[in-house]
Amino acid sequence: MPAITELDNSQSLFDKLMKIKKDSGLCYQSLIEKSTELVDKINTIQELKAEKNAVILAHTYVIPEIIYGVSDFVGDSYALSKDAVNTPAQTIVFASVRFMGETAKILNPHKDVLMPATDGGCTLADAINAEQVRKLRAQYPDYTFVCYINTTAEVKAECDVCVTSANVFKVVENLPNDKIYFLPDRMMGQNLIEEMKRRGIKKDIKYFSGTCYVHEEYTLEQLLDMKKRFPNALVAAHPECQPAVCQKSDFIGSTSQIFKYIKESPNKEFLMLTECGLGARLNMEYPDKKIVGTCTFCKYMKSNTLDDIIRVLKNPTPEDYITVSENVRIKAIKSIEAMFEYAEK
Ligand code: SF4
Repeated sequence: MPAITELDNSQSLFDKLMKIKKDSGLCYQSLIEKSTELVDKINTIQELKAEKNAVILAHTYVIPEIIYGVSDFVGDSYALSKDAVNTPAQTIVFASVRFMGETAKILNPHKDVLMPATDGGCTLADAINAEQVRKLRAQYPDYTFVCYINTTAEVKAECDVCVTSANVFKVVENLPNDKIYFLPDRMMGQNLIEEMKRRGIKKDIKYFSGTCYVHEEYTLEQLLDMKKRFPNALVAAHPECQPAVCQKSDFIGSTSQIFKYIKESPNKEFLMLTECGLGARLNMEYPDKKIVGTCTFCKYMKSNTLDDIIRVLKNPTPEDYITVSENVRIKAIKSIEAMFEYAEK
């Protein structure tokens, strides 16, 4: 989705806020101060982008100032990496976490990929390394190794095919081998087993023990309680949630799929089980839809700030550049290409 990034938009917001009488309350006062700072930072970033021939990609889970103030593309990890390929800009600033920056670099080896996050980790991507995958492959030589996109480039390079939360069920269904080792997400592995059963497909699926600390927090008890409190709400869950939670949901999908589901549904009230950023975007873009109940912050995604974007555009350090060795990149891109092949069958 192209973001609202024109200078005059931030200026008109600023102008509106400045019309609020200064004695109208402390709350407005702090908003005016904050907006003054935001406008300055947003304008600085827009100027730097033009000067450095850069684009800014923002994952849906990052803070709204980045999404609505400076980003050129907003979406999920894989869609954003593809957007990066299609832009003529030479520099990509990827407001997200490290594994997403690596995917962008794998697909765009000749572009500079800069990472503003001060803590670009991810409990899923950090759950397993390449050496552990090699050991598992030796233990399960007949299995096709399927990795979720939330993995490092080195791990992707050791696997046969990569998947996203949007295509995991389809890719695994289409794989010719009946023996599958899925990594690193335990919850998604268990949801995969349930979905294959539901589709009547026989697969022997083993899975690794990683979890996303944001999505594993939702419990069945919480969900049942919320359903009692909001009986008209439809439930949309991410497949990184526990199977017991997913089975009681009306829709399971990636952030982009949940966004589309809610946007297109005639229902007005939704319980959404994923990171808070998605609900914030829906509330902003579709104010007639009501997102009720709980959501959870990802501290890694929220470590991207406007100040850090200014820093990496002005004076990037070697650590701010995403690097992937050519040897790893060539192997990792094969697992991504295999994903296309099986997702489009
Ligand atoms: S929400 Fe979970 S899977 Fe996504 S970046 Fe944060 S820790 Fe990783």
